[in-house]
Amino acid sequence: MREPEYVDIMADGTVKQLNPFTGTEVWTVAGRGNRPLGVKEHQPEAIDQSRAGAYCVFCERRYTDTPPEKARLVASSGPDWAADHAEPAPSGGAGEPAGPSGPASPIPDWPLHLLTGADDLYRTRAEFRRIPNLFEILSFDYWQANYGYQLPADLAAHSRRYVSTAEGRAHVERLLTAKLTAMASPPQGPFSDERLIEATGSFLGSGHDVIVARRHFTDNALDDSQLAGAGTLSPAEHRQFIRFSIEAMVDLYRRNRYARYVSVFQNWLKPAGASLDHLHKQLVAIDAHGAQYELALEALRENPEIFNERAVNYAAYKNLVIAENDFAVAFAGFGHRYPTVELFSKSEAPDPWNHEPAEVAGMADLLHALHAATGTAIPTNEEWHTRPADAKLPTPWRIMLKWRVSTLAGFEGATKIYLNTIDPYALRDLVVPKLFALRAEGRIAPAIRIATEASCRPNPLHYTANRGAPLF
Ligand SMILES: [Zn+2]
Repeated sequence: MREPEYVDIMADGTVKQLNPFTGTEVWTVAGRGNRPLGVKEHQPEAIDQSRAGAYCVFCERRYTDTPPEKARLVASSGPDWAADHAEPAPSGGAGEPAGPSGPASPIPDWPLHLLTGADDLYRTRAEFRRIPNLFEILSFDYWQANYGYQLPADLAAHSRRYVSTAEGRAHVERLLTAKLTAMASPPQGPFSDERLIEATGSFLGSGHDVIVARRHFTDNALDDSQLAGAGTLSPAEHRQFIRFSIEAMVDLYRRNRYARYVSVFQNWLKPAGASLDHLHKQLVAIDAHGAQYELALEALRENPEIFNERAVNYAAYKNLVIAENDFAVAFAGFGHRYPTVELFSKSEAPDPWNHEPAEVAGMADLLHALHAATGTAIPTNEEWHTRPADAKLPTPWRIMLKWRVSTLAGFEGATKIYLNTIDPYALRDLVVPKLFALRAEGRIAPAIRIATEASCRPNPLHYTANRGAPLF
C-alpha cells in the first residue's frame, strides 16, 4: 500500500499536513499564513543592576531559594577564563584548544560537584546546577507509597549531613515552610531534625529535577529584553548544558527502577509554560511511557526504519531540511499544532547517554544553532524524545523545538483539524537565513551545513544498528 502524503500543497497554496506518528492533522490555509508572529511586543526596561545575580530564585546569589542541590558544573578555569589568560578563548563550538597532550575532547570535563553542602554553596560559581523541583509532579511519597521505593543510601546519608550544619538546617526549614504554606498547610511550631532530614530526602528522592543555567541576562545586558537563552550561550557552554542534562537523565533512571520514562523538556518564557524567564530544563521520571512512544510503537514494530522513512527521508524529498552536521539533522516538521523544528541524532546508539562525546556535541551544536536562529523573544518548548527504559525497540534520540506563537482556537475541538499559521516551508524560510547570518558572525558552531549545503542522502539515521541493545 502506498504511504500517504504527509505534506500536501494545494493549488491555492494551502498546506495540509499529517503527522506520520501521531496522526495529527494540521492545515495552513493560504492567505492566513503570513500574519505576524503572535509574540507580544514588550517595551524593554532598563535592568536594575543592583539586583545582579538575584533577579529570580534561579539566579546565582539565591542558591538557597531552591531545594538542596544534586549537582553542579563549574567552568574549568573560572568564568573569566578568556579575560584572565593570554591563551585564546575556546573558539565557537570547537571546544577547548588542543593542548600539548593531543586533540581536545569535544566536551571538556568541567569540574563536577555532587551533593554540595549548604555551607559550600557559594564557594564556587555554578555554570549549571541540577536541583530538585520545589513543587514536583511526582513526589518521593508517590514512588514510596505506590512502589515501595526507598531513598538511595547516598541520598539518605546526604540528607543527614545537610541538616547537620546550621546553614543546611536553616535552608531546609525555610523551603519546607514555603512549600507547606504554598500548599495551604502552614507549619505549626518548629521542625524536628528528623522532619528536616525527611524533607531533604523527599526533595532529593522525587525524580523531578531542574537544570538551571547561570545567567539570567546576557553578559553586559542593559535592558530586560536581553535574556540569556539557550541560543545566547556559547556553543561550548551549550555542549556542557546538554551533556549535564543527559547525565541527569540517566541518573534518574539508575536511581529509580520503577521509572519507565524520563521526560526532558525546556519551556522558554511564560507563554510556553515557564514560571521564570531564567534558562532551565526540567526532567521528570514517570511510571508510564510517553504518549509519543505509544503512538509510534505499533508502526515501529512493523517497520523499524519509520524514523528514516517517514521523518528524515520524507523531509529531504520535500526540501524541508534546515541544517545538518556529521551527527545530526534538522528539518521543518510537519503535522504539528505549533511550528516545530525536528532534530534527529544519526547515532547508532538509541539512548543519549550511550552516544559518543562527538555525537552529543553534534546534537548540542545543531540544537544551539536552532535556538540562536529562533531568538530569545519567541516562547518555545524543547521536547526530547527517547526510548523508554523498558522498550527494546530502538528509536533515535530526537528533539522537537516548538514555537509557541499564536494559533487559532475553537475550530479544533469540533474537527480535530488544527490550524497553524506557519507552514513547514515558511518555517524553513524563517530559520535558514538566520542560520547563515549567525554562522557568518561566528555565533554558532562552524561545522553546520545549512539548507542546500546538506547532503540529504536517504537513511541518515543509524539507530536500528543497535536492535536489542541494553539501556545501560
Ligand atoms: Zn534569574
